[in-house]
Amino acid sequence: MSEQEKRVDQGGVDALYEESTHWHVNTGEETIHAKRMPGMWRNLKWLSSTVWIFFFLGPYLRWDDRQAILLDIPNEKFHILNITILPQDVWMLALVLLFFSILLAAVTSVAGRVYCGFFCFQTIWTDIYTLIEEKLEGGPAKRRKLEKAPWDLNKIRIKTIKHTLWLLIGALTGVTFAAWFTDAYDLWIGYFTFTAPTVAWTVLGLFTVGTYVLAGFMREQTCFWLCPYARIQGVMYDEETVLPTYDLNRGEPRGKLKKGQHVEGMGDCIECNQCVAVCPTGIDIREGQQEGCITCALCIDACDSVMDKINRPRGLIRYASYDEIQGKPTLPLRKRPRVLVYFTIMTLAVVGLVYGLTHLGAIELKVLHDRQPLFVQQSDGSIQNKYFIKLLNKTDADMKIRISATGPEQMVVVGADKTLVARKGRLNSYTLFVRVPSRLLESASTPIVFKVEQVDAEEITAEYTSMFMGPRR
Ligand code: SF4
Ligand code: SF4
Repeated sequence: MSEQEKRVDQGGVDALYEESTHWHVNTGEETIHAKRMPGMWRNLKWLSSTVWIFFFLGPYLRWDDRQAILLDIPNEKFHILNITILPQDVWMLALVLLFFSILLAAVTSVAGRVYCGFFCFQTIWTDIYTLIEEKLEGGPAKRRKLEKAPWDLNKIRIKTIKHTLWLLIGALTGVTFAAWFTDAYDLWIGYFTFTAPTVAWTVLGLFTVGTYVLAGFMREQTCFWLCPYARIQGVMYDEETVLPTYDLNRGEPRGKLKKGQHVEGMGDCIECNQCVAVCPTGIDIREGQQEGCITCALCIDACDSVMDKINRPRGLIRYASYDEIQGKPTLPLRKRPRVLVYFTIMTLAVVGLVYGLTHLGAIELKVLHDRQPLFVQQSDGSIQNKYFIKLLNKTDADMKIRISATGPEQMVVVGADKTLVARKGRLNSYTLFVRVPSRLLESASTPIVFKVEQVDAEEITAEYTSMFMGPRR
């Protein structure tokens, strides 16, 4: 007997064959009870799930005397730390959405549905729901047995605990979602004292039921039937996209080990079905790329552990591109036009965002020149123009302001000596008249610069250039 044959873990392989009779691909008629196996990708999946901790804790972070991130839709304001974004700045939100949608496309083009496998709330919540199920009901075989068993006190007890925990997680998801849109602490008080607004109760109800149904019952069927991303992913793939792939050349012809040994001429796949057993969507990766594959790589962990048992090199299922499997040279990212286009768009979106955030002032000034009439000749010979000043105060406090202007010689701004009030979070309107002696006007239009400054805080100012109109010369 060769050294390799001696080291085959025969007991382990027999156990896999014994178990493999329970596994079959997803037909949509039965609940998928995926097996959990340890491994590098499993650990990475848990690690990536932790990004959702921010979703749960984010609403409780404070900045000054309010929530650090508050999407205050009723008052049409988004607060992010000390930045306030009003509807006028909503183009930045469009850039954020553009950035993330192109990022999703770029990542999909490079490494498939990594978002689905490692970050999507549907797969992560399903993972947590099935973990609870496993802790209470046992492994896949026990769960199937319990499903078929008649109702008795023990089954009622287990199912009650499981569904209560699922509902509680759904409710916590609902409260957390609502907390991004209103003060989180007030929201909890509102729920406990039954004084929360109707919309808060509606969000809580929808999320509780929605999470319970989607993560608890529909699971992978949501990815199959409801998720639009699964439908469009194909257009983002190319021959260079790396995906969990079964190495057909190495694995086929597949066949069971006979007395712990490979039959002459057989490939490395020993038909143990472990890759199907761990798949949360219940597909068989050996049949090629499928719409149901969420790129979670759990089948890689499973197959690697089998390869260890039979003393074959890992990587029969591995992250690989179509070209790599075909033995063709692989292109570096910088030579893939699709990826370059995605990264260019993302860079432009980031540049736009940085520009927007660094140019967000506390006030925004616009000056409209009255065009009917363009000017009025006064009895003293001076020319008068009328301007509408539109001042958006983006801060949370009323502001005392003064308006001034620089332009033609001996210009008089009527009302400029007064201190005005700009109401917080509102577009404030003022009307100003500017007069210039007619003899001093050298042309029909002369630039005039309006300046608004806060009376008690020098750093808040805004300027706007308009024109002073007079008779043709
Ligand atoms: S690909 Fe790997 S895990 Fe899947 S059946 Fe073959 S040997 Fe088993
Ligand atoms: S085939 Fe593999 S990578 Fe795809 S969903 Fe199933 S376990 Fe995850």
